[in-house]
Amino acid sequence: MDQDILINIHSIIPFSRVNGPGNRLVIFFQGCDLKCQGCFNSGTHSFDNMNLYHPGDVFQRYLRQDIEGVTISGGEPFYQAIGLLSLLKLAKESYGLSTIVYTGLAYERLKKIREYRLCINFIDVLIDGRYEESKKETTLLARGSSNQKFYFFTNRYRQANLYMLSKEEILIGKDGTITKTGFSKVDF
Ligand code: SF4
Repeated sequence: MDQDILINIHSIIPFSRVNGPGNRLVIFFQGCDLKCQGCFNSGTHSFDNMNLYHPGDVFQRYLRQDIEGVTISGGEPFYQAIGLLSLLKLAKESYGLSTIVYTGLAYERLKKIREYRLCINFIDVLIDGRYEESKKETTLLARGSSNQKFYFFTNRYRQANLYMLSKEEILIGKDGTITKTGFSKVDF
């Protein structure tokens, strides 16, 4: 079944310390039409195909042994619910990873739709809500703006685990590519 599913992915960070607790594999889905003003990932908005992956290939290619969990962001992950569900199931059932998902959609809306609820069954922590530039998060909590809410669906984490070491992380790849990640839209 996995081979029938393709996920349109913007980018993958194999190792991050600022996108949730511990060492995390971070996957940014491609495609979002929510138009949050000040969105710091506007390259994910287009619905054109970017990088197409079978869910299993993501883990086979990018999962390191020292990874505690997967963080899925975007773009809007729930717009590719079938791929999201497959990715989350694999993360939990095949690799024993914790799962954190960021969505611009409200949880109240998500829980009314069956295929979204199926995804939620495999999520430890959901962070919902659109980014609001006027409400930038000023602490080290792992969210862009203070209107976004945390939902803890399992006892794997609690809010204290969502305070990051830093707002930003600079990663240098083996090929010399430099990637900046985190929640650095905050002015101190
Ligand atoms: S939901 Fe996320 S990706 Fe979409 S516009 Fe808002 S901040 Fe950007």
